[in-house]
Amino acid sequence: MNKKADVIIVGGGINGSSVAYNLLRDGFTGKVVVFEKDKVYKYSSTPRCAGGFRQLYTTDINVRLSRYSLNIYKHFSEDMAVGGEKPKIDFKQRGYLFLATEKMMPQFEKNLKVQHRNGVQSRLLDKNELLTLIPELNVDDLAGGLFCSESGYLDAYSVMQGYIKYAKHLGAEYVYQEVTDLVIEGRKMKGVRLDNGDIYEAPLIVNCGGSWGAQLSAKAGMKFSIVPSPRQIFQFTCEKPLENYLPLTMDPTGVYFRHEGEQLIAGYSEPIRSAYDYSWRREDFVEHVWPILAHRVPNFEKAKIVRGWAGIYDYNTEDHNAIIGKYPGVDGYYVAFGFSGHGMQQAPGVGKGLSELIRTGKYETIDLSPLRPERFTEHQLVVEDAIY
Ligand SMILES: Cc1cc2nc3c(=O)[nH]c(=O)nc-3n(C[C@H](O)[C@H](O)[C@H](O)COP(=O)(O)OP(=O)(O)OC[C@H]3O[C@@H](n4cnc5c(N)ncnc54)[C@H](O)[C@@H]3O)c2cc1C
Repeated sequence: MNKKADVIIVGGGINGSSVAYNLLRDGFTGKVVVFEKDKVYKYSSTPRCAGGFRQLYTTDINVRLSRYSLNIYKHFSEDMAVGGEKPKIDFKQRGYLFLATEKMMPQFEKNLKVQHRNGVQSRLLDKNELLTLIPELNVDDLAGGLFCSESGYLDAYSVMQGYIKYAKHLGAEYVYQEVTDLVIEGRKMKGVRLDNGDIYEAPLIVNCGGSWGAQLSAKAGMKFSIVPSPRQIFQFTCEKPLENYLPLTMDPTGVYFRHEGEQLIAGYSEPIRSAYDYSWRREDFVEHVWPILAHRVPNFEKAKIVRGWAGIYDYNTEDHNAIIGKYPGVDGYYVAFGFSGHGMQQAPGVGKGLSELIRTGKYETIDLSPLRPERFTEHQLVVEDAIY
C-alpha cells in the first residue's frame, strides 16, 4: 500500500520549511510530509547564502514581502522557541546601503517612492552622511547612497533550522529521501515517486526544491526559465579594523561587503552560467573583488583571504524574481522557486502566502499573485531593477 499525506512539500530548505510551519501554525489539520534529499543541507542554497536582508527593492511585491519578513525576523527568536529553546538567528540590523554614482541617483530617487509608499524608512544619503556610517569609505567617485537602517544581515541556517524544528513540533513529518518524479493522472496531482521507486500519495504538492525545483517540474512537462547559477563568497580580514560595524554595503559595481563576526565577507555579481559548481576560486577574488574593495575602503588594500565557498542561485532568467503560486492546468500543484538570490529574506512571506492560498484559496496577508507562474504567458513580468 502506498503511503499517503494531505500535503507533500518537496524540499525542506528555508522556503519549504516555512511553508510547512505556516500551514500547521495557521490551523491546517491534515498530514504534512516534507521530502528532503540532503539531510545535512550540504548543497542547499540556504546555508550558503550571504544572509543579507533588505527592503531596498524597486517593485511593490518585493518590498511588501521584505516588510512582512522583517517583522517576522525581528521577533523570530522569541516566537519560534520550542521547548524553551530559542533559535539564535543573529539578526544584525546594521542597515543596508547601496552606494551611488551621480548617474545612479535619479533612479534611486524613483526607487525611494516605491519603498516609502510601502512604509519602508529608506533615505538618500549625501557623501558626508556616508562617511558617518563608514568613516574609511572612499567617496571620491560617489554622489551618495540609498540607505535603510532597519535591514542588515542574519544567520540563514539558524532561521531554516528554526522553521524545521517548529514545523516538526507542530506535526510535520520530514522524510530524508529524494523525490524523483511527480505523479500526475489526467490533470490532477496524485503524489510523488521516490528514489527507491515507492509512490507517496497526496492531492497537493508544493515544489520548494530550490535550484532543483524547475528540473523536477520539467520532467512532468511543466517548464520554467530557471537555471542553477553558481555564486561565490569570500571571507577575509584586514590589518587595520574599521571604526564601525558595516551595513551590508553594495558598491555601484555590484561588489558587496559586510562584517561576519570580526571578519568580513564579500561577493560579486557573477555572470549567469548553468552549473552546479560549488568550488570557489581565490583568483576570482583577486581579479573581480579585491580591486574594488581596495578602491572603496583603503583598509581593504591589505585584505587577507581566510576562506571561501560557493552556492547556487535558482536564477529566473526572464524577470529574476520568484515564481510562487498554483500551477495552472494541473490541480494540486504549487511552486515556490526561482528566487534568484533573494529567497532567504522572502521565506517568511512565502510560507504565509502559500499557507493562505492552500487553505483558503486566496491570499490574505500579502497578495503574492504578481509572482504567479502564469505571468510569463500573460506577459506580466515583474521587473525588479535592484537585482545583483
Ligand atoms: C552565494 C549566495 C548568496 C546569497 N545571498 C542571499 C542574501 O544575501 N539574501 C537572500 O535573501 N538570499 C540570498 N541568497 C539566495 C538564497 O540562498 C536562496 O534564495 C534561498 O536559500 C532559497 O531557499 P530554498 O528553500 O528555496 O532553497 P534551498 O535552500 O536550496 O532548499 C531547497 C531544498 O530542496 C531539496 N530538494 C531539491 N530537490 C529535491 C527533491 N527532488 N527531493 C527532495 N529534496 C529536494 C534540496 O536538497 C534543498 O535542501 C544567496 C544565495 C547564494 C548561493
